[in-house]
Amino acid sequence: CGIVGAVSTRNIVPILVQGLQRLEYRGYDSCGVAIQANGPDAQHTGALRRARSTSRVAELMAQVTEDKIEGGTGIAHTRWATHGAPAVHNAHPHFSHGPGADAAERAGRIALVHNGIIENHDELRAQLQAKGYVFSSQTDTEVIAHLVDSLYNGDLFEAVKATVLQLRGGYAIAVFCKDEPHRVIGARAGSPLILGVGQGETFLASDAMALAGVTDQIVYLEEGDVVDVQMGKYWIVDKAHKPVTRMVKTVHAHS
Ligand code: GLU
Repeated sequence: CGIVGAVSTRNIVPILVQGLQRLEYRGYDSCGVAIQANGPDAQHTGALRRARSTSRVAELMAQVTEDKIEGGTGIAHTRWATHGAPAVHNAHPHFSHGPGADAAERAGRIALVHNGIIENHDELRAQLQAKGYVFSSQTDTEVIAHLVDSLYNGDLFEAVKATVLQLRGGYAIAVFCKDEPHRVIGARAGSPLILGVGQGETFLASDAMALAGVTDQIVYLEEGDVVDVQMGKYWIVDKAHKPVTRMVKTVHAHS
């Protein structure tokens, strides 16, 4: 339903949660946020931390404050369930749970939010289960998180480009990886995704309105685009995965 993401040097949690609040009017059944933990008061520095709720976004904010979840890189989501009941374990962000000897070490390596529907989720889930991936939700979305993990070889942009080639259906996704702290990758096909260009920080959102008061410098991604968002810079490739330049527009979003 709604997506917000950010790469910044400041604690990004309030901006992500306010972004979700600006998208609340669209309706949702659950919400969540995942962060690469850092900052003076953050607990478990370096780990991916997550809070999810089937209540209001305000309750999610209370949870992240209590758990001292903070950091400069993160993604957030309001969910409108299509696959899997509205429940905390089905709420986004979804984490990967890699198989193999280093499974424990790799648990929670990839965090992902998704709008839309993956039509070939059954087929992909079966392939991933055969490789040893363990699923902890009934969503089509979790399949994408594990698929990114299975294709990850040290470069998240490459892993997401390889992932989208295998997806059928409609999606906007935002994903980040524990091993690459200042990077969020976005991709869209069938669902909207925009980029917010700030001063030394960059944002992703499903709607410019989510970033009202944060930045009015907006790039509308096109069908099939994949974007590599880093601290104050970004790269976009088109549906053929060729580097492309998209116009930055000044957008006055009102909430
Ligand atoms: N199909 C996904 C799910 O059910 C995403 C739904 C949405 O767009 O919020 O979790």
